[in-house]
Amino acid sequence: MKTAIVIGGSLAGLAATALLRGAGWSVELFEKAGSSLEGRGAGLVTHAELHRGLARAGCVIEDLGVPVPQRVVYDRDGSVLEQWDHLQVFTAWGKLYAVLRAQVPPEVIRGGVAFAGFAEPPAAGRRVVANFSDGRQRSADLLVAADGLRSTVRAALAPEVQPEYAGYVAWRGVVEESLLSPRTRAVLMDKFAFCIPPHEQMLGYPVAGPQGEVHEGRRRYNFVWYRPADTASELPRLMTGTDGKVYLDGIAPHLLDPKIIAEMRADAVRLLTTEFAEITTATPQPLIQPIFDLTSPRMAFGPVALMGDASFVARPHCGMGVTKAVSDACTLVDSLAAHADISTALEHYSRQRVAAGDKVVDYARQLGAYMQAQVQSEAERARAEQFRTPHAVIRHTAIAMH
Ligand SMILES: Cc1cc2nc3c(=O)[nH]c(=O)nc-3n(C[C@H](O)[C@H](O)[C@H](O)COP(=O)(O)OP(=O)(O)OC[C@H]3O[C@@H](n4cnc5c(N)ncnc54)[C@H](O)[C@@H]3O)c2cc1C
Repeated sequence: MKTAIVIGGSLAGLAATALLRGAGWSVELFEKAGSSLEGRGAGLVTHAELHRGLARAGCVIEDLGVPVPQRVVYDRDGSVLEQWDHLQVFTAWGKLYAVLRAQVPPEVIRGGVAFAGFAEPPAAGRRVVANFSDGRQRSADLLVAADGLRSTVRAALAPEVQPEYAGYVAWRGVVEESLLSPRTRAVLMDKFAFCIPPHEQMLGYPVAGPQGEVHEGRRRYNFVWYRPADTASELPRLMTGTDGKVYLDGIAPHLLDPKIIAEMRADAVRLLTTEFAEITTATPQPLIQPIFDLTSPRMAFGPVALMGDASFVARPHCGMGVTKAVSDACTLVDSLAAHADISTALEHYSRQRVAAGDKVVDYARQLGAYMQAQVQSEAERARAEQFRTPHAVIRHTAIAMH
């Protein structure tokens, strides 16, 4: 039986593990976090491609999320600028995690153990040998790196590939529907809604409740508010924790300065509709996340495959992060089934998925360009502005790419 090591037990790693096991591989999954990741994360958009990938991984996809029939852009005063009937299912990260985790037996997962490096540089035709944080060493026919934006595996193989800050941050959070006023529920709960102050974008949609509930009264509302933040002053100011340290790559929610949160909520009252402002106030623990672009020229290094956020991260405007990760896993198992030689299979996988990753990153860059703090020339700003109109925002955001 062929053997694989998967690094990272989030959505990409779980999908790869489930699909490889389904194809007859023996898999060991290493996740550096010691406890389950469930309970973390916020909301996400689903696409038909994701539903197909989950079905292939063996997931039961009935009631995966909340179906939302309409999109709407609100002006600051609450009037409707644009609306579009477009059915889409929104879910919670935690629900997707639980669905995929159920496909991987616990004995396959080594929790609290991090990939620490390769014992020797991986090479085509040879088994890969990896070292781990607890001192163990493993060898296998294949190693799949699903260890996210700051991938340790990628850093060992392609250190020149680095995420680039996009020039803006996303405030995000989820709030239980029951905590919202009847008016806000009526205006927002059944819609994918937007509000677009100059160079900013607020959006929100209903997602499954904490236990995956999708019925009225038990759902939650997810918001994402994109705001420019330049690297010289605003980004470090926002990302300074209550411990005085600056966390430019991302700050843990409990370290967020309450004054920065209060300022964001006050800005929401000034810039957004009353209902969106209420969402920011009612959300118990808002999070802030700098937005990055990441592209990789290759996703195969002999018997090692990069996948998910370890290889490509697009700005969230396409809502393709999870879909892309699950599709990477599907293409990986298809390529391995089609080619007896693992390195040849991975070269085939890399060609297909680099093309797909480049396409999503490029499109998401265009959609988000008008929010960048440092928009380059006037011509670039004018090009960026074409995606700022209510018509463009409503028809291009989170639409599946083929
Ligand atoms: C807790 C969490 C919450 C998220 N919430 C959302 C959300 O609400 N909405 C959304 O659109 N996207 C969210 N994402 C991102 C989304 O999951 C990804 O865009 C997509 O699923 C692809 O992710 P990934 O599995 O490739 O990488 P990630 O989801 O980043 O996972 C990487 C995993 O690798 C592990 N890891 C890192 N280094 C090592 C190492 N050296 N050894 C072993 N393990 C390692 C990490 O602990 C992590 O579990 C979230 C990610 C995480 C981890």
